[in-house]
Amino acid sequence: MNRPLVIGNWKMNLDYVEAVHLIQQIGVVLKNKPLEHVELVVVPPFVDIRSVTSVVDSERVAIEVGAQHANVHEAGAHTGEVSVSMLERLNVKWVLVGHSERRAMYAMTDEIVAQTLRTVVRQGLAAVLCVGEELSIRETEGHNDFVTTQLHAALEGLDERWRPLVTIAYEPVWAIGTGLTATTEQVREMTEHIRTVAASLSLGEARVLYGGSVNAENATALMSEGRVDGFLVGGASLKAESFLTIGQAANDCYDGKR
Ligand code: PEP
Repeated sequence: MNRPLVIGNWKMNLDYVEAVHLIQQIGVVLKNKPLEHVELVVVPPFVDIRSVTSVVDSERVAIEVGAQHANVHEAGAHTGEVSVSMLERLNVKWVLVGHSERRAMYAMTDEIVAQTLRTVVRQGLAAVLCVGEELSIRETEGHNDFVTTQLHAALEGLDERWRPLVTIAYEPVWAIGTGLTATTEQVREMTEHIRTVAASLSLGEARVLYGGSVNAENATALMSEGRVDGFLVGGASLKAESFLTIGQAANDCYDGKR
């Protein structure tokens, strides 16, 4: 089993004052009860990143900071966008690439996802490639093919130097922010499928996460029966208690306590 990774995606929530408050709360809990087996990452809105990394550094919080998106280009006339090198200067270590909300609402095609992933890893940052099908595709049993296509589009031909920087997050669109969680069986089947496709693309070592209404109650079952390497968490990452309970579940599953 790979070392678990639990990522909290704050989406467009929490201004910088609220973000500081949350990361401080997380820091206090982690100081008293470190999660020795789990890598934790928080992914705040761009405008909060500097404040969050300041707290992480000054209070030595055992967590890394990620970004929700980065522009495909390295610099230039792209009003409103943020480049990977700007993120790197802020000590950002992770970037979500191709989250379904960006694919659906901000015209992120498979091609742009693939190029963005390369822009991220070339700069030495870790990329979390998000894949997952819509409900209509799941209902017609097209989910495996759909995810295969997304994986091929993003990862085919990726230089071997960059492969260790890739994590894959399976996030069925119908489970994101809906309270509908994929069953542990659906997660296990898809995780195995993703591992097979990833191996065929020479990415057999990549960690595979699940995301979609993960919470403090379902994390243990999803982790152990779903056989994932961790989670990408949205709503439940906005409170220190639920985020860290999910982290604890991942920690204990790895440790064999659950
Ligand atoms: C997400 O935003 O990636 C996500 C999985 O959200 P939620 O946990 O709220 O479903």
